[in-house]
Amino acid sequence: MAKVKREKWSKEFSEWYNELLESAGIVDKRYPVKGMNVWLPYGLKIMRNIEKFIHAEMARTGHEEVLFPALIPETEFQKEAEHIKGFEDEVYWVTHAGLDPLDVRLILRPTSETAMYSMFSLWIRSHADLPFKVYQIVNVYRYETKHTRPLIRVREISRFFEAHTAHESYEDAERQIKEDLEIFDRLAKFLALPYIISKRPEWDKFPGAYYSIGAEVVMPDGRTLQIGTMHNYRQNFAKAYNIQYETETGDHEFVHQTTFGMSERLLAAVIAVHGDDNGMVLPPTIAPIQVVIVPIPKKEAKVDVFAYAHEIAEELREAGFRVHVDERDIRPGRKYYDWELKGVPLRIEVGPRDVEGRKAVLARRDTFEKVTVERDKVVEEVRKTLDAIHENLYQRAKEFLESHIKRVDTIEEAKAVFEDRRGIVEIPWCGEEECGLKMEEELDAKMLGIPYPEERARIEGKKCPLCGREAKFIARFARTY
Ligand SMILES: [Zn+2]
Repeated sequence: MAKVKREKWSKEFSEWYNELLESAGIVDKRYPVKGMNVWLPYGLKIMRNIEKFIHAEMARTGHEEVLFPALIPETEFQKEAEHIKGFEDEVYWVTHAGLDPLDVRLILRPTSETAMYSMFSLWIRSHADLPFKVYQIVNVYRYETKHTRPLIRVREISRFFEAHTAHESYEDAERQIKEDLEIFDRLAKFLALPYIISKRPEWDKFPGAYYSIGAEVVMPDGRTLQIGTMHNYRQNFAKAYNIQYETETGDHEFVHQTTFGMSERLLAAVIAVHGDDNGMVLPPTIAPIQVVIVPIPKKEAKVDVFAYAHEIAEELREAGFRVHVDERDIRPGRKYYDWELKGVPLRIEVGPRDVEGRKAVLARRDTFEKVTVERDKVVEEVRKTLDAIHENLYQRAKEFLESHIKRVDTIEEAKAVFEDRRGIVEIPWCGEEECGLKMEEELDAKMLGIPYPEERARIEGKKCPLCGREAKFIARFARTY
């Protein structure tokens, strides 16, 4: 039996990742605009399966889907001062129509607050319209100056999910953030991804937000990847865009707003976290092909392995599985290699002896274990095995995450963690911005924030390693993507 190898995966992650995106058919980064990639059919199918779950969650929680234009007039973009300051370095401008300069220049949306909120002010009239919950999945554009990386740091985010909500009160907006966290948790379980949630420090909030929280996973090289964010805006944008509602008593009040954002980074996390040296390992929930059947014909054999393979495939399809029979005229070893690379969770091998004995061989992608099962037990065994694969992927990733979070008391210990096995460092912090920024500098790492909810971040009896004052929080630091 082959063994799980994770040498290249952990030691040369960048190279592993780039090669895999190409060889497994996820995206092609040779498109002639830097930081903009072409989605390939297989990658897109996986992403669509992730989005199917998101659409279902949105429906379950009463969010309506909308679709806004990609262009935003400069005049709208400029209404919220902090927001424009946060994005002005990154926006692409449309300045001409044909040969003529435009009267009002347009930006390609980097996110849609400034596109949506002038419309919200027309749509939201009374308390009866609230809570107001919409979302869209669209492409957004950000001129990234850092090193670009497919699905992770790109100039066109192709699958940007953004939910925008408006509420009567701060308390109701807070309830929304809790709902977002619950949706995120269900999605993460669907993807078998364990994660951590942190409340971002003041200096790293979303531009215009009252507070921001973010979800991270740890990548194979120990750096973290942000895969989800939630923001409470309070009435900040409502005041800039005049989004008011009439209360039951006839007064006019500004709404409270929140947003929830995710992107194709979810797919990057799935590929990175679950992979190994043989390629991707997809959770069965999102695998375009859950079971691949490889018939192994032998010249002298009298039985039809292809017919037998199709018979099994049909039965599995009827039971609701996504199945493919690989009939290519190439050696079985080559087929195994291809499907392992593409992360198909389960392979079924059928040779003449299996046909004669009414059996089939099940080979797991996550552990490479092989078992022979009775023909009439195939559906039942496939169902059990796919569940076991999902659970194993989650547990393996959880162990990896937990072994990459280290709590320390001093800057020296923190530095040692980053030099050694990397990951996330948790360190006492007085809560002052000055100390936080200084720690970022000394550790050459980013403060992800404090554990969320805040009760989990509070500590007693520890000193801030920088100023020596009583520490109020545990702060998390990591090298990030
Ligand atoms: Zn301090």
